[in-house]
Amino acid sequence: MRGLRAAALACTLLAGLAPAARADTLVDNVRGETIGPDGAVQNFVALMFDDAGVITAVYRAGDKLPRQGRKGYQYHIDGKGRVLLPGLIDAHTHVIETGFALLTLDLSDTTSLNDALAKIGAFARAHPDRPWILGSGWNQERWHLGRFPTAAELDAVVPDRPVWLNRADFHAGWANSAALKAAAMTASTPTPEGGAIERLPDGRPAGVLVDHATALVTRAIPAPNPRDIDLALATAEADFAKAGITAVADMGTSLNDWLAFRRAGDSNRLYVRIMAYALGTEAMAAIGGSGPTPWLYADRLRMGGVKLYLDGALGSRGAWLKAPYTDMPASQGTPLLTETQLGNLMSRAAMDGYQVAVHAIGDKANATLLSAISDLGQTYHGERRWRIEHAQIIDPADWPKVAEIAAKGGLVVSMQPVHQTSDRQMAEARLGPDRLRGAYAWASLKRQGAVLAFGSDTPVERPDPWIGIAAAISRQDQTGAPVGGWQPQERVDRATALAGYTSAAAWAGYAEAHFGRIAPGLRADFILVDTDPMTASPDAIRKTRVLQTWVGGGKTWDADPAVTRGQAQKP
Ligand SMILES: [Zn+2]
Repeated sequence: MRGLRAAALACTLLAGLAPAARADTLVDNVRGETIGPDGAVQNFVALMFDDAGVITAVYRAGDKLPRQGRKGYQYHIDGKGRVLLPGLIDAHTHVIETGFALLTLDLSDTTSLNDALAKIGAFARAHPDRPWILGSGWNQERWHLGRFPTAAELDAVVPDRPVWLNRADFHAGWANSAALKAAAMTASTPTPEGGAIERLPDGRPAGVLVDHATALVTRAIPAPNPRDIDLALATAEADFAKAGITAVADMGTSLNDWLAFRRAGDSNRLYVRIMAYALGTEAMAAIGGSGPTPWLYADRLRMGGVKLYLDGALGSRGAWLKAPYTDMPASQGTPLLTETQLGNLMSRAAMDGYQVAVHAIGDKANATLLSAISDLGQTYHGERRWRIEHAQIIDPADWPKVAEIAAKGGLVVSMQPVHQTSDRQMAEARLGPDRLRGAYAWASLKRQGAVLAFGSDTPVERPDPWIGIAAAISRQDQTGAPVGGWQPQERVDRATALAGYTSAAAWAGYAEAHFGRIAPGLRADFILVDTDPMTASPDAIRKTRVLQTWVGGGKTWDADPAVTRGQAQKP
């Protein structure tokens, strides 16, 4: 930004001699698209923002543009005919985990167990100084393994140090024997409630721990120091900016995460807006005290709600189902809270004015959550914008309840389009054919009046909104499979997809008066891209290049290698 303004100043030296009362910037020569207040796409050709990074005017085709000078604008950005969109919002992220996933071993591209083991061994040899080998991204489904991997398999490549590797969904972890030993786990370690321990025939832990059982090992891992957390935040921010993301909801902010966000805000290093949801009611009280925090740092940070977990994930069979898993008839998944606990925690948060966001994946978890929200609606009136995180499988029999809550207190279904394409075959195996009608049912839930907010769940999936938009409108994966789209009746139109990553995602976080659209009075968060998501094929949308990202009138990403050499840039 500073460089750009210096260049602009050089061109307007005369105007610059007199101190200008205002310093407005005009961005013109763009093909602008934003969601309007009615949910439809609006087109525009230019916008102006002031020195505080707030949009002051938006110009449609045919409008008279202001002139450069004291009465007009002082700085100028030529959009060169590119597509300009509101900065994208990822409605479900784990910010610090995203940074750590990029800084530790990434197994998301491994195609077999042997492939993964080779990578783990190489990583351990390359990092002899790390006391623990940490990583994430493995998925036994993608390896076609047909079972979980074991500690013994890890021991063969890293025998000397503890290893802990999160499954791609972060609802299970894989330990080697040194990690199990560091956690003092033996055959007599009881299985905690809401968790599962894979065991050998003699009862000893076999290596993989699911949901609440993961804490048995993770609490033995040395906690990252504040400097590590700051580095993780900066790494995640750069990753978001590059993808065109200007705001995120952080779904599970710990007190330490919050302190890192505050340190970044205090030193002008918050380049992405964070709508924080505290990780449970304890973190909520520690961060917010008696209620949501105000917007801080010119709308860059706010803690407005709490995140609760009602069940696990489908891949590790932790999702809580009404009927047994088709591919494991002994199991219906695991609730992580009782109905009473859920009601009490939600009530405690709602009482203090916090927004409530609950992770629910299985149809039983969603039905239980919908009932709990209905019950609370008797006490907590008015618009509450209840959030269901993932809402992956909602029994069509429960859709009327969605409509009832949406009409009464407002309901956000915070869904991740790319989960549908990644999970399709696994979901078919887990659920069988009869339960798929209610799976990833975006269009149906929207018809019931729920607001669709889209995200990635990064680091579970890459924070790439373009893959998400393409999946949302096509129900097809990168290879175009399946032909015609999976359960294609649940596709959404392009405006709904864009809204899911902009205006609706802002509404879902009580941020619609601050950002999420291109309109006067809102923050100048915008991106310039090389592809028009309103007309391009899903395949072309997937390959969209983000040319520039601007947050509050400051540039955070510039793809021009001559300018930045691919690095995220400070505003
Ligand atoms: Zn998540």
